[in-house]
Amino acid sequence: MKVLTDRLTESPTELCFSATPAWWRERCGPDSELAGGLQGSLEVRILIHCMGQDLYLEGETAGALELRCGRCLTRYRQPVGERFRLVLEPAGSRVPADPEGAAVLARDGVVLSDELESGWFRGSEIDLGSYFQEVIALAFPVQPVCREDCRGLCPRCGADRNAELCHCSEVRPDSPFAALRALRDEPRGGKER
Ligand SMILES: [Zn+2]
Ligand SMILES: [Zn+2]
Repeated sequence: MKVLTDRLTESPTELCFSATPAWWRERCGPDSELAGGLQGSLEVRILIHCMGQDLYLEGETAGALELRCGRCLTRYRQPVGERFRLVLEPAGSRVPADPEGAAVLARDGVVLSDELESGWFRGSEIDLGSYFQEVIALAFPVQPVCREDCRGLCPRCGADRNAELCHCSEVRPDSPFAALRALRDEPRGGKER
């Protein structure tokens, strides 16, 4: 996603980028857990303008992520609509202290701070592909859950407890409550025969 910085003015320019599943897989690499996360394209829309020497960019993502529930393992779609902002200032003659950052600035014409809210740019053409990749990666939940009350799989028989009731005991032997519950379940005076 290339942006020609010398064409930008103080009035915002709108740019749209379609993050296709193929683009995403290539960006993430085949081994990434996130690689299968896009089954359809995600739209990234940005407004970009300059103020003085700086570039101001704001935008949002729209679409859906394809996720696997961490509890019941089914795949589900989760809509995304993340807003983001970025301010870029000219790098001038400055060079990022870390060699990796310096290489990225040389390659893309843009390098970002860790929080992704600011960065430096250099030259009349910058590539925002890495930035969009980060923005999309941030939209992925750390612990995907298909729905808040997902009951997950039975740890004993593997049944999907959202779909069927298995008859395994709810009480795991290692649970600190197991002993308590066993006591409570004991019929009154049950030990005496
Ligand atoms: Zn689930
Ligand atoms: Zn079960």
